[in-house]
Amino acid sequence: MNVLVINCGSSSLKYQLINSESEEVLAKGLCERIGIDGRLTYQKAGLDKEVTDAPMPTHKEAIKMVLDALTNDKTGAIGSLSEVGAVGHRMVHGGEKFTSSAVINDEMIKAVESCNPLAPLHNPANLIGVNACKELMPDVPMVGVFDTAFHQTMPKEAYLYGLPYEYYEKYGVRRYGFHGTSHSFVSKETAKFLGMDLENSKIIVAHLGNGASISAVKNGKCVDTSMGLTPLAGLVMGTRCGDIDPAILEYIAQKENLDLAGVMNVLNKKSGVQGISGVSSDFRDLENGMNEGNERCADALNVFSYNVAKFIGAYVAAMNGVDAIAFTAGIGENAPLVREKVLGYLGYLGVVLDAEANKKRGENNVISTPDSKVKVVVVPTNEELAICRDTVALVK
Ligand code: AMP
Repeated sequence: MNVLVINCGSSSLKYQLINSESEEVLAKGLCERIGIDGRLTYQKAGLDKEVTDAPMPTHKEAIKMVLDALTNDKTGAIGSLSEVGAVGHRMVHGGEKFTSSAVINDEMIKAVESCNPLAPLHNPANLIGVNACKELMPDVPMVGVFDTAFHQTMPKEAYLYGLPYEYYEKYGVRRYGFHGTSHSFVSKETAKFLGMDLENSKIIVAHLGNGASISAVKNGKCVDTSMGLTPLAGLVMGTRCGDIDPAILEYIAQKENLDLAGVMNVLNKKSGVQGISGVSSDFRDLENGMNEGNERCADALNVFSYNVAKFIGAYVAAMNGVDAIAFTAGIGENAPLVREKVLGYLGYLGVVLDAEANKKRGENNVISTPDSKVKVVVVPTNEELAICRDTVALVK
């Protein structure tokens, strides 16, 4: 079956058409500047990217352009839309309502809408994508795959905050966690790659991208994760601050004469390694800066790596041990220096880094030595493939 995977944001939309049997990507691309002017990028497997500027007043026109490109006579990946067997949508927040992926129907859409207050920017955008596909492909089954669902197995002691309990009851204020599709995919791939029994394993997944989160996966189920009610919590990230003393909000608001929205903007967009370095949120720039003697770039790299190591230590405690640590996403897959710095803190666990293996890129890779007590791996994440697999499992 061919599955169209859609990741719909407020003004952009990423897509992939995947053959679920071969798990090959037949075509992929994105629509940008929806509602502004509009640009479609389309790439059929094995061919060059095509970029077309064309008006996309709404997501419906954007998706129509994607479908036209997919079925185009010359460069289309399929002959007609009847070759799309299902659509899998990435959904950000499923609250406590969704503990796994779900077939999209009217009742499901209402349940997602009831989670909108928890992700006021993302969920409505996801639903716009769902509605546009429904109009253009009314008979094609669709599935929603949630960023939060994998983390719903966390026990209460991991998800409750030290706040008045009624905030949890009335407003759903608790830890939800994000990147769940990636944590789920990478923990499964790690067990498979290492020949471990997932049902009897303790795996820590470090999803280190521009947004970064860590999770503790015991016997295949998430027992803790670093992001919280929102993706601002946990690790120091590209531009997000991660965990800070909450009293800093009031202090900065007073000192900088900012309102709450102004402070939140700083915490989301001007903090993290960008804020510390004053140079960039991109780890390639930070490494270059450090190599040129920029001390704040070195500080940013050190703070980030130390934070990752601290969370790993916490999750070893949460699971009373660890069998494997998996690095994934942009930084986790591509920054040997960060992995080396993180693992430098973990000697007490008997972790021994294989420096040569740590230099490799691009595929599943063991970077610990054979005598390391904990296996350390790099496992590229593939959220689109995870969405495709969930979609097929639910529509078949
Ligand atoms: P993601 O959000 O998973 O796409 O990750 C994006 C981030 O990965 C970028 O902002 C960079 O910080 C980081 N990254 C990508 N490629 C490299 C690389 N070759 N070396 C170091 N960091 C990288």
